[in-house]
Amino acid sequence: MENLNPIENARLQLKSACELGDIDKKVYEILKNPQRVIEISIPVKMDDGSIKVFTGYRSCHSTAIGPSKGGVRFHPNVTMDEVKALSMWMSFKCGVMNLPYGGGKGGIEVDPSELSERELEELSRGYIRGIYKYLGDDIDIPAPDVNTNGKVMGWMLDEYIKLTGHHRPGVFTGKPISLGGSKGRTEATGLGVTYITRNICHKIGLKLSETSVILQGFGNVGSYTFKFLEDMGFKVIALLEWDKEIGEYALYNKNGISYEKLSKFKEQNDTLIDFEGANKINSEEFWSLKADILIPAALENSINEEIAEKLDVKVIVEGANGPVTSSADEILNDRGITIVPDILANSGGVTVSYYEWVQNKYGYYWSQEEVFSRLEPSMNEAFENIWKIKEEKNLTFRQATYVYSLIRISEAMKYRGWF
Ligand code: NAD
Repeated sequence: MENLNPIENARLQLKSACELGDIDKKVYEILKNPQRVIEISIPVKMDDGSIKVFTGYRSCHSTAIGPSKGGVRFHPNVTMDEVKALSMWMSFKCGVMNLPYGGGKGGIEVDPSELSERELEELSRGYIRGIYKYLGDDIDIPAPDVNTNGKVMGWMLDEYIKLTGHHRPGVFTGKPISLGGSKGRTEATGLGVTYITRNICHKIGLKLSETSVILQGFGNVGSYTFKFLEDMGFKVIALLEWDKEIGEYALYNKNGISYEKLSKFKEQNDTLIDFEGANKINSEEFWSLKADILIPAALENSINEEIAEKLDVKVIVEGANGPVTSSADEILNDRGITIVPDILANSGGVTVSYYEWVQNKYGYYWSQEEVFSRLEPSMNEAFENIWKIKEEKNLTFRQATYVYSLIRISEAMKYRGWF
């Protein structure tokens, strides 16, 4: 049986990073639980006149380096354990990119597709009424996550301003541009995934123009990853997607699929099922394709033991959060497949959220070019530093990334006198 309990997985990763990085055991004791977890009940007046009460959570894992930072997800499977684990991973992710934050995460147990727009707004505002005393641009900073977006951030910011009387846009990131959002945030995660993919290719001697990529997911992260990979000269030869009518399906063209044609087709048809620039294959065939790089950019736990056994790729770059299960991770390591972990590969998003917060504090806004020109060197630097640790300590990429981040977090804890 695969162990998929998120908080147990997160603790195991923390423990192993402590051991591999020769970090004081007290760090594990302090960080194995979040500093603060809030559970709230949110009553919402429904359109039919009834009252429905939803459960929401907010976890602040660590404030060793700075205020906690992390998204809020709306999903029926949200649990307190999941939110706690996700907040710990956010601490690691912020540490990797040297951001002045600890990790946070929030969520509401709800299927948002069953709510009207008005009910969703009520729920978003009710969530903020429950936790606003523990939010602030120097306390805890929410952002969009699964099933939340800029519009939800707008409602949340408005509720926060009404409750506190202070217009502080930096309390939330991922806002629409007109509310203080950052240019380049929409593209940032996919762009960051592409920088990291290019870096790993350089390290292992793959020429970009001869490197084939297979990609899972054509949403925000997947589509921008596709676009920027093509801009850099990579060939994306297959794409696995999902449709509510037919489920999973994949497109394959050994000469490469054109991003421009694909995105135009998606825009016109809202699906890629009948796209003509590639052959249709099923998901089993997709997972068996021979390629240099696989980028999962869709769901958690997509790559299980069975898929890990048959993958025929050299490198996996985790665009999604947690796409590889822990048992699949072991199999892939044994098979010598390099995995660049999510907390580095997809950290372009949180990094530009940090730029948004900086711009909000300054009240002065940057062009998209400026945002991208800051993102590229900081992702390259994190990659190089982690690569060095990986080589020196003979670790997997994932282990080196956790160790690198934990060294930084534990140093801050030590200087603050926490142990
Ligand atoms: P999204 O909802 O925009 O896109 C997800 C895509 O995956 C959709 O196109 C959907 O059709 C597809 N999909 C769903 N089930 C699938 C399946 N079984 N097989 C193949 N494709 C499937 O989401 P997103 O924002 O692109 O996020 C994707 C992942 O990246 C998530 O794990 C998310 O947590 C992570 N992530 C996102 C960001 C960000 O800035 N958006 C930042 C960091 C991490």
